Amino acid sequence: MPTLAAPTKEQVLKQYFGYDSFRPLQAEIIDTVLAGQDALVIMPTGGGKSVCYQVPALLRPGLCVVISPLIALMKDQVQALRANGVPAAYLNSTLSAVEQRQVEDAALTGQLKLLYIAPEKLFGASAMGLLKRLNINLFAVDESHCISFWGHDFRPEYAQLRVLRQQFAGVPIVALTATADKVTRKDILQQLGLPEAKVFIASFDRPNLSLTVRPGRNRLKAIDDFLHQRPRQSGIIYCLSRKATETVAEKLAKLGYRAKHYHAGLDAATRSRTQDEFLRDDVQVIVATVAFGMGIDKSNVRWVIHYNLPKNVEGFYQEIGRAGRDGTPSDTLLFYSYADYLSQMEMNAQVEDPTRRGLLNAKLDRMKQYAEAETCRRRILLSYFNQETEHDCQNCDVCQNPRTKFEATTLAQKALSAVARTSERVALGLLVDILRGSHNQKVTEKGYHQIKTFGAGRELRPDEWNDYLLQMLNLGVLDIAYDDGHALKLNNLSWAVLKGEKPVMLVKYVPPHLRQAAQETATAREQDPVREALFEQLRGLRRRLADEQGVPAYVVFTDATLQAMAQQRPVTREQMVDLPGVSRQKYERYGPLFTQTVQDFLTERGLPLPTYQPKPAPERRAKPAEGQAAPTKVATWEATLQLYQDGLSVAEIAERRGFSVGTIYTHLTKLYQNGGPVDLRQLLSPEAAEAITTAASQLQMGENSPLKPLFEYLGERYSYDELRLGLAVWVKEQG
Ligand code: ADP
Ligand code: ZN
Repeated sequence: MPTLAAPTKEQVLKQYFGYDSFRPLQAEIIDTVLAGQDALVIMPTGGGKSVCYQVPALLRPGLCVVISPLIALMKDQVQALRANGVPAAYLNSTLSAVEQRQVEDAALTGQLKLLYIAPEKLFGASAMGLLKRLNINLFAVDESHCISFWGHDFRPEYAQLRVLRQQFAGVPIVALTATADKVTRKDILQQLGLPEAKVFIASFDRPNLSLTVRPGRNRLKAIDDFLHQRPRQSGIIYCLSRKATETVAEKLAKLGYRAKHYHAGLDAATRSRTQDEFLRDDVQVIVATVAFGMGIDKSNVRWVIHYNLPKNVEGFYQEIGRAGRDGTPSDTLLFYSYADYLSQMEMNAQVEDPTRRGLLNAKLDRMKQYAEAETCRRRILLSYFNQETEHDCQNCDVCQNPRTKFEATTLAQKALSAVARTSERVALGLLVDILRGSHNQKVTEKGYHQIKTFGAGRELRPDEWNDYLLQMLNLGVLDIAYDDGHALKLNNLSWAVLKGEKPVMLVKYVPPHLRQAAQETATAREQDPVREALFEQLRGLRRRLADEQGVPAYVVFTDATLQAMAQQRPVTREQMVDLPGVSRQKYERYGPLFTQTVQDFLTERGLPLPTYQPKPAPERRAKPAEGQAAPTKVATWEATLQLYQDGLSVAEIAERRGFSVGTIYTHLTKLYQNGGPVDLRQLLSPEAAEAITTAASQLQMGENSPLKPLFEYLGERYSYDELRLGLAVWVKEQG
């Protein structure tokens, strides 16, 4: 009888998960547990922890037992595994007695490769008896930080997990967590009794997440604009209070968004329904407290917004980590106001234990440093997790808008003198009113309109003053008394500045609408209308299949896989299985439906069917899809250029090429920017060119500035296409 060679871990990864190569550390971790050694895996959310125990489970006889506290997640994980042809099941309190028996039988008769168990179930007498009779090849302890009293999510049931090592001496244990805290790490090893475990710490960098911070003013309007640029994209808005989640969700719903709120005060049925609707893309926006997200495995969350300043960097990082788990570009936005910081300080002040209070304040300060950063925000985040980098990321708003400093001593003196003349009794907002000479009731009531510095800072807008005063607070040039109505106070440094002994440098304030958010990705993704249209069709098909089977959409295919399909347009089996995330079973179940959809789509539009033959996996390993995208882009611009040079109008080119007029404008703009033989000025009327370039200059716009302010500034007289052309002309003519 011929013996088949045992599959390699790479083959298992391709066959069951549809991926060509391992992510950093996955292969090493798998080798370690296959060698029978214990391991501790620290990887950020979305880093790919599951593969580290799922692949070994498939390579060895017997099954892997996964302990996870997240009951909601279990069902999804099991469904996702089954969709890939991996026999898996779970045991937790949601199962009926009959269902439980079925799972136990399947485990005992060797029909399972993965068995998920909730910790409270594990320590029932029957479960231990069951485990003893199984052929267990590996224990995986997921969310293992729950074992530590020092972690942010301690669960007493986890404290008993030590018995695993005691009762199952020969079975390796892999503990996994996304919490990087050193104390917690040490505690996990000690509590589980794994002194010899090999520790793997993955990079905490998530380069596909853009990072932006905006001042916390007009938040709703800013969110409206943000959502407007991202039609249909799912996301989460985190708020500090339950009340806030309700009001924000309600306002968004009034603006026409499919938004719902979520917090721990809702009953379990409502919570689970909302969660499901979000998973199925029926709800686009979830407005939630931090109670939302643990156990939500949705790979196509495209953005996360923090409505308020979070309490610490760990929580913040975990929450933004819920965006872009499929690795595609995703955006994060934090609203920051000093008032939020103050209210957090006040909450901390209620904590009685001074050590703990000190810890909370120190953590809050690190969060504030992130929000007020003048250097690359990603470097600040990574250094928090003890991961230093050499380079700025170019995907945060600071990298996109380098800071400029200016000599601000006179400006600071005006503010400090106003503080002195109001006897250090006013808070920030009122001081701004006084400096700007506003005759409002609060000002006149106390007679502040009669002091010498009243109106001394009229030349600056309120948002500018706000920003500069915050900077002064951060520099220590000014103090604030939390216990005295947040009144501003002078200190030694303030007096030195007032006397002209110390200069003050501040960072030039740029209003948010003129800042470049680190978010071009969203618009860039929308640019190829054919790809977008195909993506929508594929999404529709995925939706139908998911509904038929009662599973979340990503269990059929993830967004990343659908995007690869829309880009590569596979019409043959070879082309389809080549895509990331197309496992063997998924091809067999869904592949032909999707290739047919692609083919129909292309045929209906008279587009050519792709004929490429994918190369065998190993050769492509170094560089996937990207290499293929670039030439097509250039080729498509060239085709447009050819027709343009033949003297066709933009409308004719669009018609001829089957693209929208906007896309043709984009092609011509790119060609123009790259020095090609295209004269954009000729595509605009002379008055439009004049008006747009003048306005662009007045608004100090750059190549990537958002267009909406320009649109409004010009009284909505010109279309976005015209604005884009005009702006490109202006930028280029500036040199
Ligand atoms: P975690 O548990 O660490 O938060 P997951 O295990 O859920 O992360 O993985 C996150 C995503 O990354 C999933 O969609 C998973 O399929 C994908 N993934 C995991 N390993 C790989 C890999 N080697 N190549 C491509 N995608 C992967
Ligand atoms: Zn950066």
